[in-house]
Amino acid sequence: MKKIMLITGASRGIGAEIALLAAANGYAVAINYLNSEVAANKLVSQIIKDGGQAIALRADVRDPKQVAKLFTELDAKLGRLDVLVNNAGILTSFRVDETEQSKLEDMFESNVYSAFYCSREAILRMSTQHGGTGGVIINMSSAASRLGTRAGSVAYSAAKGAMDSFNLAMAKEVAAQGIRVNAIRPGLIDTEIHAADIGQEGMHKLAKTAVPMGRAGTAREVADAALWLASDASSYVTATTLDVTGGR
Ligand code: NAP
Repeated sequence: MKKIMLITGASRGIGAEIALLAAANGYAVAINYLNSEVAANKLVSQIIKDGGQAIALRADVRDPKQVAKLFTELDAKLGRLDVLVNNAGILTSFRVDETEQSKLEDMFESNVYSAFYCSREAILRMSTQHGGTGGVIINMSSAASRLGTRAGSVAYSAAKGAMDSFNLAMAKEVAAQGIRVNAIRPGLIDTEIHAADIGQEGMHKLAKTAVPMGRAGTAREVADAALWLASDASSYVTATTLDVTGGR
């Protein structure tokens, strides 16, 4: 029987790479997306063409009702979840003196509330206290949580700081229920997320000076870390954050 992995925000970037690698490693994957339906369906077709199993599920993970529906669909189409990757996130840039309630809410709903809603549904299925057989949750944080990075990144850094604490406390809460919980803190990774912030060119330029290894990371390098955390090779690893930053 294939293990089942749900990756939120997997239509592109890091999530898409985790989906591809997980499928290649024998997981049946559920690819959640919000707007990029064409990209999500293309990814599903590619995985199926390569002999894997995948489905695409649209849901806005900021909305608990849509998250509940997403999990019900997942139950019906693939079965009992083994691994949840709370990957969906946004990066918008505004200084504290430019704060607007709607921007702040979107930042925290997209990057933090979404992880609460999805983890609640996952725990209800995985926890031995709820009749499950255990599982793994992986939270996509960011090195911004401990670096603060640059002007305009306060809200993003604070949201990812909340993700670090969420990861640590939730890991302890469910450790005796058969669920391992770990976070990945990527550094500068070459994806489209930078388009709305410093742009791809700006990101590569920054990587040359700010990253000890002198380059941006690839989504595949983050996916490799996620697959290790999902696997039994990390069976005694929980409540940790794994930096994938090129030394930053
Ligand atoms: P990306 O290329 O911008 O992709 C973001 C993904 O999240 C897309 O698939 C998008 O779906 C989805 N998404 C956003 N809001 C959503 C919502 N409300 N509901 C469902 N899906 C939603 O980003 P990325 O670079 O791969 O980043 C993935 C994660 O890694 C994020 O949590 C990010 O903060 C974190 N991270 C990235 C970097 C980096 O340098 N790239 C560094 C540190 C941490 P649609 O396209 O369908 O809307």
